[in-house]
Formats: sequence, C-alpha cells, structure tokens
Amino acid sequence: MQARSADLKVQGLEKRFGEVAALDGVSLDIMSGELLTILGPSGSGKTTLLKVVAGFEKADAGTVRIDGIDITALPPARRDIGMVFQNYALFPHLTVRANVAFPLEMRNVARAEIETRVTEALQLVELGGYDKRLPKQLSGGQQQRVALARAIVFNPRLLLLDEPFGALDRKLRETMQLEVRRLQRRLGLTTIFITHDQEEALVLSDRIAVMNQGRIQQVATTTEIYERPANRFVADFVGESNIFHGTVTEPGVISLEGGRRLLARHSGKTGQRMGVLMRPERFGRGTNVFAGEVKEAVYLGVSFKLRIACDDGLELIVRQPARGELPAAGTRVNVSIDPEDIHVF
Ligand code: ATP
Repeated sequence: MQARSADLKVQGLEKRFGEVAALDGVSLDIMSGELLTILGPSGSGKTTLLKVVAGFEKADAGTVRIDGIDITALPPARRDIGMVFQNYALFPHLTVRANVAFPLEMRNVARAEIETRVTEALQLVELGGYDKRLPKQLSGGQQQRVALARAIVFNPRLLLLDEPFGALDRKLRETMQLEVRRLQRRLGLTTIFITHDQEEALVLSDRIAVMNQGRIQQVATTTEIYERPANRFVADFVGESNIFHGTVTEPGVISLEGGRRLLARHSGKTGQRMGVLMRPERFGRGTNVFAGEVKEAVYLGVSFKLRIACDDGLELIVRQPARGELPAAGTRVNVSIDPEDIHVF
C-alpha cells in the first residue's frame, strides 16, 4: 500500500455560529508526509477546522488547498480524505471486512482488487483474521483499528483523526498512539490529529498547532512548543508551568510583580513588560535562588512535586528527582534555577 501523500494549505478560514467565532482567521501549512497535531481546549475550534477541511462544514471565508489545488467547493466524497472519529462510527450490521471494503465499493473498485486491498489494510492494523466479525464482537481498540483501516484503504491523500482514542483507557491509548505513528510513517501519510491531551500531542507529532478561541496560537515542533512557547496561553496549556509577569529593569534582569529580581536572558527594552516561564523540572542549580517553605509535596514515582511558598511572596511548583524522603509540609528549602533555563516571552 502506497500513500499518495499531499500537502495541505488552509488560508484565512472563518466560521461563525451565531455569536461564536469557531474559526477566526485560521491559516496553516502542512507538509506532505507530516503528522500535525491540533491541540486545544474544548470549544477552541478543532473539530470545526477538521470538518471544513473534510468538506462537512462550509467556511464563511477562506480556502482549502491540497497540492495547490483549491478544493474549498468540492463535496466531501471527492476530496479523497480518510477520517477517523472518536465514536467509532463503524456500520454495526456489516462485518469488519465489509466495513473496510465500503470506501472501495463507493469508488467502484473491481472486486478482486477490493479483496486484496482490504486484506492488506487489515494486516497493516494487525487485524488479519478478524474479517468476519461484527463491530460489537470487537474491543474499543480493535474497533478503532478497523476505522483506521477503513480510512486508509483507498489511499487517501490526507488522513484526519478527531480524538480517535478519546474513549480508550490510558494503556490502550498509548499503544494506539505508537501504532498510528508507525503506520503514518510507514505510509508517509499527511495526517492531522486532533486532541486536547498535551501528552498525546507530544508523543505523536512532527509539529503541533496550539489552538484557542478559533485562532492558532503557535505552530512549531514539539520541543519548541514546550521550551519556547510563544505566549502565556501556550506556556500554560502545554506542560506544567510557573508563569509570572514582570518588567525589564536592565539587561539580563526582569523585576517581577512583587519586587523579586530575576536573572534571565531576554531581548526586551528597559521598561518593557514580559512574561516569564519556569518549568518545574528545570530547578536544580542556578544563580536565581528562592528560599521558602514546602506547602505540599506529592510522590509521583519518578519525581517529587513540591508546592513552595517563597519568602518573597512567589509560589512555585518544583519537580525534583524522587530520592530519599518526601519533604514534609513546613520543611524549609532553597531551590535554584539558572537564567538559561528561564524562558521569557
Ligand atoms: P471539543 O474538543 O470539545 O470537541 P473543539 O475544539 O473541537 O471542541 P468545535 O467543536 O470546533 O471545538 O467548536 C468550536 C465552537 O463552535 C464551540 O463554541 C461550539 O459550541 C461552536 N459550534 C460548533 N459547531 C456548532 C454548530 N453546529 N452550531 C453551533 N455552534 C457550534
């Protein structure tokens, strides 16, 4: 099975539902063979974006192009896009084989070729031998594999996955994430994956587009999103964070609200207001030292998570490797962070 991978370009998409701007000027370029995750909270417009790309929803403005060709006005069936949704959406009365054969029958593919392609697709999702079962005779994870086989069996130019593993338990979800990644790489299939789960996004993606209130907040590689978030929303939504605001007082120094002087690399001008992000796991050695008292400590297996009330009024979440005893509430501690480990936005 060979993918006819395509690139996708959406430009200036707008979609309103009454007062709500579900898409508020969305532009996005996805490269051929890339897996891009759209990550955002509930109601941020993710599904609407996918529906517009698939043709199930008509945008008020903007264009969708596949390989440079404008498909904005094309009906869904002629877009050659494979889709998988959260709620399986298999035909309950059809066998696994008939479910996967369906898109090929719709395209009038010859019987013999249908047989070969369905067998191949079922093998790809590791369900060879399950062809005669009905969906209700399969587990949730297996049903989603059938849905995946059905979405790729006709060699789509684009694969869209809308929270496909949302209903699965954590372990199975993790297995399925790795399987999708493997399959997507093997086929070189251009894929958009929607999720509100930041861990899922980090595991799966080549790049992540973070979305909020109908707008793309940042599009970047997974490390960039985590290490160098573009704004407060991204910093807060992806990963645990200590976020503060302050004013540049001199080169290399930001004075936080409340007066604390923080040594941090920044490119701001004196008097400029800036956001400061300190990831909990970045505390260790460094020239910024905070003295304070442990308010809460949790054992998380690999690490201790501490909530510390600092003497200068700041409250910090800090992660430390889990060694020795978990510090009790009330314990006095010093924690430090290097200026290089502070991200300023
Ligand atoms: P979730 O993660 O909960 O699925 P989402 O990010 O996919 O959310 P959308 O489903 O795209 O968000 O919805 C974006 C906004 O548009 C929401 O405020 C939603 O209520 C609204 N909306 C979506 N579809 C419709 C519709 N058919 N009629 C009215 N409002 C809608």
